[in-house]
Amino acid sequence: MIIREIVLKVTSTCNLSCKYCYVFNQGDTSFLHEPKVMNEDVIISVLQKVNNYCELHKLNNFFIVFHGGEPLIVGHEFYEKFISLSNKIIKSVKIHYTLQTNGTLLSEKWCNFFNEFNITVGVSMDGNKLSSVNRVFKNNNMEAYDKILEGYNTAKQFIQYLPILSVINTSANVSEHYQFFKKLKVPHMDCLFPDSTYEKFDKNAKHLGRWLVNLFDLWYFDKDENKPIIRIFYIIIRLLLGNEAGCELLGTAHNGVINIKSNGNIESVDSLKICGDGFARTKYNILRDELDSIKESDVFYKYYNSHQDDVLCEKCKKCIIKEICGGGLLAHRFSKANGFNNPSVYCKDLFLLISHIQNTLIDDLPEELTDKIQIQKLLNDDYN
Ligand code: SF4
Ligand code: SF4
Repeated sequence: MIIREIVLKVTSTCNLSCKYCYVFNQGDTSFLHEPKVMNEDVIISVLQKVNNYCELHKLNNFFIVFHGGEPLIVGHEFYEKFISLSNKIIKSVKIHYTLQTNGTLLSEKWCNFFNEFNITVGVSMDGNKLSSVNRVFKNNNMEAYDKILEGYNTAKQFIQYLPILSVINTSANVSEHYQFFKKLKVPHMDCLFPDSTYEKFDKNAKHLGRWLVNLFDLWYFDKDENKPIIRIFYIIIRLLLGNEAGCELLGTAHNGVINIKSNGNIESVDSLKICGDGFARTKYNILRDELDSIKESDVFYKYYNSHQDDVLCEKCKKCIIKEICGGGLLAHRFSKANGFNNPSVYCKDLFLLISHIQNTLIDDLPEELTDKIQIQKLLNDDYN
């Protein structure tokens, strides 16, 4: 098992309280017992353990994602200290920094700071006002849409590459959704499935597959050279063409990502919190344990191997698109009765989307190429 990325929970608080948030609003209570801001002892331990890990496993590159809660809440001083400590402690590995923000606190000063320290920034924005109804302020429940948009527009003036993460809201009109992000000149966006387990499945998300198929068609047949890259489609196409191993949602890749909380606890990823209170937890803490210790954790093992036969259910193992779908996100397979031994709650949606993209490529690409990569048209009957 190789870990290539840590998601650093620099704070356990946020100025928003998004209705779907797995940190605060899906039953996990860990945040109640964690420090509001990660302290210097934890930071030093993180950096030492990353350095040890990279030396041991001979890694030349490692990824650190600043995350929360809302990571801008901790102020510039936190990051200045972090990077200065990093420059002293990390020896032979190149650290790539990313920060994922809700956008409401973005300012010119922050952007200059990110540029100076070479931190890539991603903004979480669900789309237009209708798509964004689940994003609300914590103190008064008011919609945060205007503030997020203002933050994005400000940042765009100073930062060249500003990707978006959006959680799909199938009540939004697909075409308006696509045009919204095009008008904003978003270079890269991802569409995240609303997190769900069998117990929590929201019938409103039922048409997610159809919604994504419609978005794919708008995007794929759009001849505009400046259209955004939509990550989920891009990954499926690359998987079908044999150029890609996948991600935590799709494909056959291993998921070498862990979380480190503001108190130093080493956890598996946040999405697993929707399966139950404390579900992502392990017994390890960065103040006393090395990164490798998490390999002993069952929940991490399942996440790391979530696209492998060892973890997939019987239906996924036999599925005709197993190599592309990979059973979907691990958390989306959870039920109280069977644990993770289920196909994704979005199984039909994944099949619909992947088969649609596969069939579109076959119609659109030269026959020699589709013959070479050996993909054939899929029918509804192929869904097992
Ligand atoms: S901005 Fe992120 S961390 Fe804050 S409430 Fe929303 S989803 Fe949760
Ligand atoms: S489409 Fe369904 S059965 Fe097939 S791999 Fe994906 S989740 Fe499993």
